[in-house]
Amino acid sequence: MTKNTHSGDGAGFATRAIHAGQEPDPLTGAVVPPVVMASTFTQDGVGNLRGGYEYARAANPTRDALQTQLASLEGATHAFSFASGLAAEDALMRSVLAPGDTVLMGNDVYGGTHRLASKIFGPWGVTVVTTEMTDLEGVAAAIAANQPTVVWLETPSNPFMKVSDIAAVSELVGDALLVVDNTFATPYLQRPLEHGAHVVVHSTTKYLGGHSDVVGGAVITNNDELAEKVGFHQFAAGAISAPMEAWLTTRGIKTLPVRMDRHCHNAQILAEALDADPRVEQVFYPGLPSHAGHDIARTQMSGFGGMLSMRFPTGAQAQAFVESTEVFTLAESLGGVESLVNYPAKMTHMSVKGTELEVPDTIVRLSVGIEDIDDLLADVMQALERAGKY
Ligand SMILES: *Cc1c(COP(=O)(O)O)cnc(C)c1O
Repeated sequence: MTKNTHSGDGAGFATRAIHAGQEPDPLTGAVVPPVVMASTFTQDGVGNLRGGYEYARAANPTRDALQTQLASLEGATHAFSFASGLAAEDALMRSVLAPGDTVLMGNDVYGGTHRLASKIFGPWGVTVVTTEMTDLEGVAAAIAANQPTVVWLETPSNPFMKVSDIAAVSELVGDALLVVDNTFATPYLQRPLEHGAHVVVHSTTKYLGGHSDVVGGAVITNNDELAEKVGFHQFAAGAISAPMEAWLTTRGIKTLPVRMDRHCHNAQILAEALDADPRVEQVFYPGLPSHAGHDIARTQMSGFGGMLSMRFPTGAQAQAFVESTEVFTLAESLGGVESLVNYPAKMTHMSVKGTELEVPDTIVRLSVGIEDIDDLLADVMQALERAGKY
């Protein structure tokens, strides 16, 4: 065997994003590894496998390529890719929770994460407790009072972009497993395992895929014992990412660094412009010095990301704004190259109405894309103008 020159070991982030797991096809020399659609693999005699592949739920080369790439980017030894972010979270929760256990979650985690834990795992005997993850004394008290098996953190959070100190929380968790949902930051801006997290989850549907054309998720860790459990759930329950989805995600990840640089650049300019505009009451963006999490974000992240939210004086103005943008498309989700505008109260956060996670109807969330910043600024300004009439 020749030395594997494409593992990306020891190389910089952008080099690994492009090369980790991406060896040219040994048969044809194709620089881009092919999408292997086969569900089954021939055996040269019973149990004599050519490349270690047998049946595609157990393992598939295209999914392996993505998993190698994902592990490399988070600085981890194991990654498992799934059919969606929630499928990844489900496999992780089933791997680590048992009846009688408690999960301690941030009070602003992704609504679907809270729904999964409370509505699916609740009836199986798991208790979900939420707490304010930026208040370290409160986190310590909640851990002491509830003795959780799992502590679940999301930073920056959604939609207020609250920033939690991963290293500080990791000091408090004791024997509990610290899970960080790294979807908003991506490993380009933040690598939670380096700050003491035990496991990272992603909705790769967002920035990693990056083009709003594929749904997927991942669980990533350095813990061999945990990896064995998650790998077994992936195999035994089967919520795997399909080959085409895995390939599209791999393709998206190759441009993650350049996309994230532009997302950060555009979001910072927009956040500053909106912050200076009297028609907007408050802007929530970690890149603004006035943001409560700015200092932690500066040390924990290498950029402030592409997501921001803002508060309008009235709900009517907020809704008028989201219905007035022309470059920003009104849609759920985030992290694609195109700019999206979302009205959490009636869209993404509708399912958490009436809970601690409820978002006021005055809040608008932007997923700032990588279009020309002048067009984005002009669009937001004309939408503010129209919203002002309500
Ligand atoms: C979208 C999202 C999820 C869920 O991922 P799906 O791919 O939609 O299943 C989980 N966490 C965060 C932060 C998300 O934005």
